[in-house]
Amino acid sequence: MSTPKDTAPAQAGNFLTNIIERDLEAGTYASRRWAGSPGDATHQATGQADPAKIRTRFPPEPNGYLHIGHAKSICLNFGLARDFGGVCHMRFDDTNPEKEEQEYVDSILDAVKWLGFGWEANDSAHLYFASDYFDFMYRAAQYLIEKGHAYVDQQSAEEMRANRGTLTEAGTNSPWRNRPTEDSLRLFAEMRSGRHPDGSLILRAKIDMASPNINLRDPAIYRIRHAEHHRTGDKWCVYPMYTFAHPIEDALEQITHSICTLEFEDQRPFYDWLLERLAEGGLLAKPLPHQYEFARLNVTYVITSKRKLKQLVDDKHVDGWDDPRMPTIVGLRRRGYTPEALQLFCERTGTTKSSSLIDYSSLEIALRDDLDSKAARAMVVLDPVKLKLSNWDEVFGTGHVEPCSAPVHPHHEEMGRRQFNLTPEIWIEREDFMEVPPKGYHRLYPGNMSRLKYGYVIKCNGCEKDAAGNITTVLAEIVPDTKSGTPGADSVKVKGVITWVSASEGASAEVRLYDRLFSEAHPDAGGRDFLEALNPQSKQVVTAYVEPGLAAATAGTSFQFERHGYFVADLKDHGAGRIVFNRTTTLKDSWAK
Ligand code: ATP
Ligand code: MG
Repeated sequence: MSTPKDTAPAQAGNFLTNIIERDLEAGTYASRRWAGSPGDATHQATGQADPAKIRTRFPPEPNGYLHIGHAKSICLNFGLARDFGGVCHMRFDDTNPEKEEQEYVDSILDAVKWLGFGWEANDSAHLYFASDYFDFMYRAAQYLIEKGHAYVDQQSAEEMRANRGTLTEAGTNSPWRNRPTEDSLRLFAEMRSGRHPDGSLILRAKIDMASPNINLRDPAIYRIRHAEHHRTGDKWCVYPMYTFAHPIEDALEQITHSICTLEFEDQRPFYDWLLERLAEGGLLAKPLPHQYEFARLNVTYVITSKRKLKQLVDDKHVDGWDDPRMPTIVGLRRRGYTPEALQLFCERTGTTKSSSLIDYSSLEIALRDDLDSKAARAMVVLDPVKLKLSNWDEVFGTGHVEPCSAPVHPHHEEMGRRQFNLTPEIWIEREDFMEVPPKGYHRLYPGNMSRLKYGYVIKCNGCEKDAAGNITTVLAEIVPDTKSGTPGADSVKVKGVITWVSASEGASAEVRLYDRLFSEAHPDAGGRDFLEALNPQSKQVVTAYVEPGLAAATAGTSFQFERHGYFVADLKDHGAGRIVFNRTTTLKDSWAK
């Protein structure tokens, strides 16, 4: 027997888990059958009791790259299914022919898998396309016409808008609202056969033009679009409206909990109206799915509007959709975000009904929390200046290199040790030497001693400069018998410890120091031009020197560069002789006031 603690779901505490628990306890969906694939009532009746306790779905439109907001929806829907013995369907809501492409389908599937989720369950792949349901949707629309629940309207778009009414005034019935059923059926068939141009006729549900909910004032459900669809080609020239298609997709797939963002709250009455009508006609199996809304994820310093993200790419403010500064999943991945960190972030941000604005630092905190115990450590000098150890030959003998070692991870000895050599010339950070130190400065200045991390204590003797007065070389000497890890290590007390890389054995690397893309928390607040809030310092490229072992790092591997932060070997450019790292985040929040 597992204790309640062991079985506590990862999504504990959000209002949706309470709803699901209540439904499971009440057996709300216990009578459902599943015939092994989506389908109408007749099809599902041939199936066994559904092995999935609940069914959720992630239903993107394949019209762009997924972003951090979608990651939230993925973690929520797949996470709830995982936690409650259910299945989450991966469904493409591809009912809008003009904007959709196979390229996006592929990138979306990659993103979901990379985030750590899958649609395989009970020996089948729950990967579906709404366009596979066009035949049923057409039949459902015909049924509504037959039962007097829909009619073909031929008002112009402007007339329809004018007759819709306002929030305070009822709408006006269309002059075509009561045309005979046979006429509507014939016209609908003509719409399908291609006889009419786009926009000339439209099928509308017949509900209530005086409803206080504008979405119930005879909403459009099928329109003419002479457009090629990325999967169905030119088979159709009529396409269902989203508000008609989505509930049907859910019902055919036996979804129990259909979770969407708050802006669809006013659509729920139509969702229920439509499914009730089709169920009473025996087209759809009961119990029907239920829609629940939650507040979309908003993150400070981040834009998630597809249109604005596209503008950033098209106008070359970033280097493509997978630029490490983009909030797309491909961008976050290239930046060094791990699936675990994104899952942690999504869980921690919670799921509520009131809109929430999450601080960008939560994303970085989740990354640090994930990588702190996993990432190998490495010494890297980002802003190099050379240091010469002038007494090398006396202490060690000419040509000697001094082997040093360090734990791969300070708290996980089992991860092993890194080996690298101390040599007579090394790179140190420019900021680790000052000719005239301010009060409290404990690193290198003439006459002062510091420890080379994992190496020896050294004493600074000054520096060399070029004609312009720039420091070219720091001069120092080894203090013998002070090597880290030897009995003599504590014989000399120093306050400063500095990181270094051998000049002869370290490798030179391109390091991209990324920062937030926008310098203001609300780049597009109040409709202002978000381009004005771009952070000019969001990408700086430096030539750094890295510990020799990093040359062999595989692309996509994360490291903690000691004292600098978390960095990842770039997925695109690192490898084949090039060493390229991206800064994921600093060790501490440099934006906190
Ligand atoms: P956008 O226009 O913001 O890029 P969308 O809603 O048009 O997003 P869809 O492909 O329809 O994109 O989204 C798929 C799913 O992801 C939907 O269920 C949607 O509600 C959800 N989703 C999109 N953005 C967010 C967000 N910021 N927070 C939570 N869920 C989101
Ligand atoms: Mg959408």
